[in-house]
Amino acid sequence: MAYDRDNIFARILRGEIPCAKRYEDDHALAFDDINPARPVHVLVIPKGEFVSLDDFSARAGDAEIAGFFRAVGEVARQCGVAASGYRIIANAGSDGHQEVPHFHVHVVGGAPAGPMLRRMAD
Ligand code: AMP
Repeated sequence: MAYDRDNIFARILRGEIPCAKRYEDDHALAFDDINPARPVHVLVIPKGEFVSLDDFSARAGDAEIAGFFRAVGEVARQCGVAASGYRIIANAGSDGHQEVPHFHVHVVGGAPAGPMLRRMAD
């Protein structure tokens, strides 16, 4: 899948659409999810053009990958959920139910995340 430069997170990165910024460095931008699932729900996105985790893990350089995941941890600390715990979610592709085609990680915390996905036996 080719990267769509008009996806909503690309437009946020270019400053064309506002966001509630939580963190930014050379590798990543983090901002509040517009429709939060928990008291803390922050999206962390790489600054490069990557469609999904599949794309990011295949094409990003080591420094981009390291910098991105350091940023995810930093966001959790800065948002005050590192001690209480949190969940990260990266939806990828159709079965992953990814809605925005720019790789992102959800950092969700501030209240119990609940069980993981419903098990197939349930
Ligand atoms: P995903 O299903 O993993 O692609 O999640 C996309 C997320 O982006 C959803 O949780 C949306 O609520 C969130 N979202 C969509 N548009 C915006 C926006 N303009 N600002 C912040 N979050 C957004």
